[in-house]
Amino acid sequence: MAVEKTKDLWVFIETEDEGTAKSVGLELLVPGRRLADKQNGKLVAVILGSNVAPALEAVKAHGADEAIVVDQPELKHYNTDAYAKVLCELIEKYGPSVMLIGATNNGRDIGPRISCRLGTGLTADCTALDIDDETGNMAWTRPAFGGNLMATIMCPDHRPQLGTVRPGVFKKSEPGEVKDIPVIKEKVEITDAEKRVELLEVINEMAGELVDLENAEIIVSGGRGVGGPEGFAPVRELAEVLGATVGASRAAVDAGWIPHAHQVGQTGKTVGPKIYIACGISGAIQHLAGMSSSDVIIAINKDPDAPIFNVADYGLVGDLKVVLPILTEKIRKYKG
Ligand code: FAD
Repeated sequence: MAVEKTKDLWVFIETEDEGTAKSVGLELLVPGRRLADKQNGKLVAVILGSNVAPALEAVKAHGADEAIVVDQPELKHYNTDAYAKVLCELIEKYGPSVMLIGATNNGRDIGPRISCRLGTGLTADCTALDIDDETGNMAWTRPAFGGNLMATIMCPDHRPQLGTVRPGVFKKSEPGEVKDIPVIKEKVEITDAEKRVELLEVINEMAGELVDLENAEIIVSGGRGVGGPEGFAPVRELAEVLGATVGASRAAVDAGWIPHAHQVGQTGKTVGPKIYIACGISGAIQHLAGMSSSDVIIAINKDPDAPIFNVADYGLVGDLKVVLPILTEKIRKYKG
């Protein structure tokens, strides 16, 4: 088990091939700031990758107090063994109190791996973070029992306290002044024998049809109410005039009307656009879990009692087959 040597709160900054920070790392600096202050520790960005100068610049502009950087060619692409070794060595050396990890595919892989090696706990897919006033432990909140209740989990006996948070749960701050913060540069030896998986090639199969819901500013989503795969045509048309990305409820995905990459919700993506338009979506708790932090929610539903109206800022009661084409036409005309 690792020992807590400081009250510092670490945020794992996952990097892309070009050395830029993935958005979720910068998002986590926002709650990280509040929690580090609350427990009188520093907010430390931990950056792993190769040629990561852009990521370092970004964390300096997003409020980190300090950065620990491990910049080596072997870390250019994510590798479970290599990343786990580096993070465990850093944690054992510096003894942070808390580490937040983005629940990307890689974050979901590395979190449990290091928690097991370090003999500590991990709370996955948190939707709210706080520090318990009485004990000073992190209070990790996440949906439990199929999303029907929210559980708050603490890890009182083991350190560091680890948790993953999905992209989009927190909003990144606007970049501020690039501050001159202390930067600790570490090198960790990683032998070929320690890496049991070798990456031979990266093939961007999805490149042409990538669905970037997490970074979308406007999302138009369709649910079971669209009535079939062809029912997504008016949803797509509205999305096109608005420059929006198309989302979906699980019911529409499960019916095979649209691929899973479009799913919003507890078992889909967590999104936080400026505008979320829900078309023919009832507003089940598992759907709300993925979109309720949107700035403005507009719901179109023929049932005036649909629960989606409880979270909507604007509600339109009507048949989406009638409403959507009118709305699309009006916006098209307005845009000239
Ligand atoms: P419905 O609940 O069937 O609602 C359809 C709505 O369309 C109704 O409100 C109806 O009034 C309206 N409608 C019908 N026709 C029209 C029309 N012509 N014009 C206008 N409105 C119309 N769901 C998700 O979305 N995302 C998830 O990630 C997710 N994860 C889950 C995880 C678990 C463990 C479980 C148990 C469930 C999960 N679900 C998820 C499923 C969730 O519980 C709901 O079943 C689902 O969200 C319902 O989708 P829907 O709103 O499209 O369909």
